[in-house]
Amino acid sequence: MGEYLVKCTGCGSVQPPHALHCQNDDALLRTEYLTRRLTSRDLPGIWRFYDWLPVRRPLEGVGAAPVTYKSQGLAKELGLRNLYISFSGYWPDKNARMTTCSFKDLEAPPTVERMIERDDQKVLVVPSAGNTARAFAEAASAVDLPLVLVVHSAGLRRLWITGTPSDSICVVSVNGDYTEAIDLGARLSSQPGFVGEGGARNVARRDGMGVVMLDGVLTMKTIPKHYFQAVGSGTGGIAAWEAALRLAGDGRFGTTLPRLHLAQNLPCAPLYSYWSGTKPDLCNFREMYDDVLYNRKPPYEMKGGVKDALENTNGTVYGITNAEAAEARKLFEESEEIDILPAAAVAVAALGKAMATKTVDPKDTVLLNITGGGISHLKEEHDQNILERDLVAESANLVSDLDLLDEINEVLRRHEA
Ligand SMILES: *Cc1c(COP(=O)(O)O)cnc(C)c1O
Repeated sequence: MGEYLVKCTGCGSVQPPHALHCQNDDALLRTEYLTRRLTSRDLPGIWRFYDWLPVRRPLEGVGAAPVTYKSQGLAKELGLRNLYISFSGYWPDKNARMTTCSFKDLEAPPTVERMIERDDQKVLVVPSAGNTARAFAEAASAVDLPLVLVVHSAGLRRLWITGTPSDSICVVSVNGDYTEAIDLGARLSSQPGFVGEGGARNVARRDGMGVVMLDGVLTMKTIPKHYFQAVGSGTGGIAAWEAALRLAGDGRFGTTLPRLHLAQNLPCAPLYSYWSGTKPDLCNFREMYDDVLYNRKPPYEMKGGVKDALENTNGTVYGITNAEAAEARKLFEESEEIDILPAAAVAVAALGKAMATKTVDPKDTVLLNITGGGISHLKEEHDQNILERDLVAESANLVSDLDLLDEINEVLRRHEA
């Protein structure tokens, strides 16, 4: 049983299991599991790591896991002897079956399961740049959980799933950027009858993403020396750190934490600016190589956040240009023979830089998180069902929340009927 306490990383106090904030301070909450040893259960997908997921039972029908494999092609190109790739996406030859093709598929199933266990009849609100919306749409559709997706208009084209979208979903499009979608989502979540998933503050999202590190370590038989990932909010980086802390506590895989190498897409790279002490550039997310990597308000300063994760692991942040990402994507796709999402290419480019600057030694064990890919295979085998938008919020800041709420409730009722 995934028995656990939710504790504040700031004051150490025990919090209610579904809390997103500590009553005393701004620190992130973190799960503390009763089981201290990594156990792999005889369950499908991510549920194999059930002891370190904050759920009471698996959610059936969803929860595909990432696969970890030792790289030959890219490893040779970069001159690495122990490069392991964690692939989150659709690649049946490797037994990777995430049908929304990104590692957001690790966050949505435990979050949806917790909503069901919570059983308070509230409607879940999820703001998204697209990949998160897809993952939550898929997980919510499996169980007809009422869900409001708040997506900025540029993200709407990413809103498809392979299953049949459930009538319990209401799609609100926002004319603005991802951060405006987040702000509107937060306001809606505070209304009676609605609840926000909490983003980085949601322990189910983080522990779900932590599966990348757990699965990686089971394959590598050791905690890696380096972990590479492309980040927007950096939540995946925090998740990898927390999973590594648990593994170090287990002790059988080593006790040295992996160095976090987080990669952002320039010029929309606030984490890179904070970390390197440079001034953030003015930027237009529409010009990014992948705008899912833009979050204007990442969880950086607070206890348990990205800064802590970087400091505790002697980590670092890279700024990657579009041209560097494009080149890295080509190198990866040619050497590993699978297509990847543009965001994942940003991590590949960071690994290339780390090799060029001798930050990583050729014999070091490296875990490279390929956070999304395999859409070409998926398209060959599955239909992609588009989720139509139900409502448009012209300006996230000027919309009347109460009018919008009425409209959302109406859409949900109409769908139900
Ligand atoms: C969301 C996302 C990321 C970045 O995730 P963080 O929340 O910043 O850890 C990276 N790659 C893909 C494909 C994503 O969808």
